[in-house]
Amino acid sequence: MILRRITEHVKTQNWLAVGIDFFIVVVGVFIGLQFSNWNEARQERAQEADYVQRLHDEAKAGLDGLLGWVGVYFEPRYKEYQALVIRMGEGDLDEITISDAQCDVIGNMHDFIAMPSQFPSLAEMTASGQFDLISDPTLRRTLINYRMMKDQSQVLIDNLNTSLTILPNDFPQYFEAQLTNDTPGLELTYKNCDAVGMMADKAFMNRFADTASRYNQYYNIVIDQEKTRVATMHDLLDEKLGIVHDEDQE
Ligand SMILES: [Zn+2]
Repeated sequence: MILRRITEHVKTQNWLAVGIDFFIVVVGVFIGLQFSNWNEARQERAQEADYVQRLHDEAKAGLDGLLGWVGVYFEPRYKEYQALVIRMGEGDLDEITISDAQCDVIGNMHDFIAMPSQFPSLAEMTASGQFDLISDPTLRRTLINYRMMKDQSQVLIDNLNTSLTILPNDFPQYFEAQLTNDTPGLELTYKNCDAVGMMADKAFMNRFADTASRYNQYYNIVIDQEKTRVATMHDLLDEKLGIVHDEDQE
């Protein structure tokens, strides 16, 4: 239609009209492109908002669920472990007693299990190449750090599980095993550790030192890091979304 009009104007050598027609075409294309860009940007912002909300909900669910379990289960056990090791470092080994709580920690120190990623939507974003949708630089950096930590902790866990000693299997004479059902699922617990026998046994103490150093790394680099990073991310997302939780107000 506009092309026929331009041809007409060229034939009649109406150059001003040709110029105006041409201008209309250029402006039309420009407006069309602008609209398309604007529409795309609007869709991306909506997608970003959707991801940010999902990341928040995943962080909250993780902290209330699995990572809440870290505070209930892992932290008290790690404190028991620290108390025992500090006493061993300071004191006369003959006089050291091992409580049942500490005995259970020693018996189960070898349990190095990877924690699942708390952010399924992060994996989805990465797989679909949509990670760039996250425009907030602090949030981007925090997400990238979380992903890097996840990869590194997987490598660490593989190392921790290589040539690992299971103390109650190799030194059954020092432990009393018990099958309990008071944690989620059936679990082996240990009590009545023979502290005197353990301390006097050089082979045991060497294996204990090795396993303890692995346990220490596992707790500090895998467990504690996971909780801290998800909590930091949650705070960041709360701030970004303007969310205040009830427990924050207490
Ligand atoms: Zn929140």
